[in-house]
Amino acid sequence: MLGYGILKGMSVTLRRFIDTYTGDLRQFPRRYASGPVYKRMGITQRGAFTIQYPEEQMPMFPRYRGPLMLLIDPKKGITKCIACGQCERVCPTESIKVTRAEEKVQDQRVPETYEYDMNTCMFCGFCVQICPTDALAHSPELEMGTYSKGDALVLDLDQMLELGRKHAPDGVWPVEKKEAVPS
Ligand code: SF4
Ligand code: SF4
Repeated sequence: MLGYGILKGMSVTLRRFIDTYTGDLRQFPRRYASGPVYKRMGITQRGAFTIQYPEEQMPMFPRYRGPLMLLIDPKKGITKCIACGQCERVCPTESIKVTRAEEKVQDQRVPETYEYDMNTCMFCGFCVQICPTDALAHSPELEMGTYSKGDALVLDLDQMLELGRKHAPDGVWPVEKKEAVPS
């Protein structure tokens, strides 16, 4: 029937609109369902809802390209980075500078300094792809905004290792399987 598809689509929209309000009423006297965000996103839940940021946060998409982080080798307790410099050479915007330490640590080459400039990084991922030891990864970090450009957006070795410890304490990334959203 002519126009049937439009009517069907509009009925779905109307149903979702109403569900949004009746869903909230079901939580009375709360304003919205308690529990983790993914529960409210579950297939049994209907209607739209507001994520109460910053108290609540969406789980970040596994392939999200956030600021770079350096991963730790959990067996050795040191960075996986061997300071080969490939990330620095491949970077099209010259956002990475790495120097190698004179001495090996646990029989491994390690960086003396590592500098990552987010002011110029375009998050292309070339450095992550080329890293031979999987030491480099894009973190899911969201809250690194500053009021100005400059040094605040330049991360050093310690800051990058800190990000790695925070988001991948076991030294493995990406973590799609660990963070899979329960159905
Ligand atoms: S993501 Fe791209 S632009 Fe950013 S540091 Fe890596 S290679 Fe350079
Ligand atoms: S992060 Fe990877 S590519 Fe860059 S210097 Fe370290 S080991 Fe080499």
